[in-house]
Amino acid sequence: MTHKIAILPGDGIGPEIIREAVKVLTCLRDQHGLDLSWQEAPFGGAGVDAAGDPLPAESLALCQQSAAVLCGAVGGPQYDKLPREQRPERGLLRLRSSMDLFSNLRPAILFEELADASSLKPELVAGLDIMIVRELTGGIYFGQPRGIETLENGERRGFNTLEYRESEIKRIAHSAFRTAMQRNKRLCSVDKANVLEVSELWREIFESVATEYPEVELSHLYVDNASMQLVRAPKQFDVVATTNMFGDILSDTAAMLTGSIGMLPSASLNADGQGMYEPIHGSAPDIAGKGIANPLATILSVAMMLRYSLGENAAADKVEAAVKQTLASGLRTADIAADGDAVSTETMGDAVVAALASL
Ligand code: NAD
Repeated sequence: MTHKIAILPGDGIGPEIIREAVKVLTCLRDQHGLDLSWQEAPFGGAGVDAAGDPLPAESLALCQQSAAVLCGAVGGPQYDKLPREQRPERGLLRLRSSMDLFSNLRPAILFEELADASSLKPELVAGLDIMIVRELTGGIYFGQPRGIETLENGERRGFNTLEYRESEIKRIAHSAFRTAMQRNKRLCSVDKANVLEVSELWREIFESVATEYPEVELSHLYVDNASMQLVRAPKQFDVVATTNMFGDILSDTAAMLTGSIGMLPSASLNADGQGMYEPIHGSAPDIAGKGIANPLATILSVAMMLRYSLGENAAADKVEAAVKQTLASGLRTADIAADGDAVSTETMGDAVVAALASL
């Protein structure tokens, strides 16, 4: 069966890094025999320029008909003054909600070759490989009622609602357990069950879903302890699953452990395994067009796509091995070059493809 992929290059460095990712897809198709087909569509600011909409109807239809979406990045100063509905970031939010992408997978990987880039001691983080699974479409960011009201005495009160339904917890739990099954089969669920009733329910449901995944070792941590453990001994974790708000915070902490924003991929999945894959960084307008952006986060997003939406685990392993081999050979883009001796986006992409072709 052909795997159909929608590609949304987006804005800024988006098209530059996507070009290198497409070379990787081409190598997988032509040299490793994967049955892949792909089509590009405008998105973000490019969607506004092409069709007056950050998520043009044809682009959305293409995404919905594809097994996976590979996205570059969106946004740029030229779009900041547009009405809210036309801003590039709105396109991203609409795409996530239209495809019901409730499970956000954010790995924090630190290749041993780059251990010096972290602000933590190299021995604490070298070889780090954590996956944070964050619930993305529920919790306090969406709960009703919400607002700011004026009380009878004239004082204002701001309020939000933290709520999770059983069905929402169940589906993110399954996603987290399935992710753990793809990795080292250890899952740590992070909550605040000593204070919050929602967390009590969360914990209970994770325990009951665990019975369906007997191979996975489930543990629980309170979020305050989890944030300490992430910087104290991050390598103790394999998969960490948590709510929208806790995941928002913990995934940024985990990302910073690795020191480079240009290296980190992400995935957002729905219940059917359909997903959107993108680097965690933005469109980097400050370096767009200079040919110096690091394409590795996008190439590693391809590896995640192969593993989590296309079921091509062996090919995913090869892409990751090719990236590792390229770093081991000493090639560095400017963002990860310690001594200023940096290669271009294209040279880095070509080196990964050459390594991939030889595997
Ligand atoms: P950014 O991630 O684009 O850039 C932050 C810094 O990291 C910049 O100095 C940039 O040059 C550098 N950087 C980022 N990616 C890099 C790469 N691959 N290689 C080398 N260096 C890299 O964040 P920002 O500057 O705050 O935002 C720029 C634009 O991107 C804004 O319009 C913002 O809204 C948008 N944005 C989009 C997404 C997304 O598409 N998911 C995410 C974050 C920000």
